Amino acid sequence: MAWIWMLSAAGAVLLWVISLGRILSSPAPSCLPPLRGDRRNRNVLLVVAHPDDESMFFAPTIMFLNSRGHRIHILCMSQGNADGLGNFRKEELYNACDTLKIPRNQVKALDHPKLQDGFHEKWDHGLLAELAMEHVQLWDIDLIVTFDSYGVSGHPNHRDVHHGIWYRRLFVMFSSYTYINTLQKV
Ligand SMILES: [Zn+2]
Repeated sequence: MAWIWMLSAAGAVLLWVISLGRILSSPAPSCLPPLRGDRRNRNVLLVVAHPDDESMFFAPTIMFLNSRGHRIHILCMSQGNADGLGNFRKEELYNACDTLKIPRNQVKALDHPKLQDGFHEKWDHGLLAELAMEHVQLWDIDLIVTFDSYGVSGHPNHRDVHHGIWYRRLFVMFSSYTYINTLQKV
């Protein structure tokens, strides 16, 4: 029966990529905010909670965006230190980004005392919003990709990241399978 599961998973990934492709390739300016200046590609910020989230949950999205020439930036809100392996996991994040072709100066893993990895850690949504906005300005970001409200896997830190991005009422575009937060009303 494993093939049924594999087929379903492959179908879900395919629908995700098609859905994202529709949004990003749409010529309608109402779909995404217009690009500033003469830029043709977007600065995308992926906000995750722990090292490995980028690979486990967003690798197809990252590869698709890369293939279209968009510049991916990753803000990882913790070093994933729940088991005391934070330094090791942070290095794994940078190594994964080498493979995903994201330059290291476009990747940051924070180690904030109030944002430590753990199922029982409650992350402040205002603080998450503040940190996200700092990096939006730092990297001149056009749009944000992050977890859905369930945090994809249900991890409380993932869910807090979702609500942190919503905190500033960053506007969300919805297609059937993808949430993308934009910085302008759509
Ligand atoms: Zn995670």
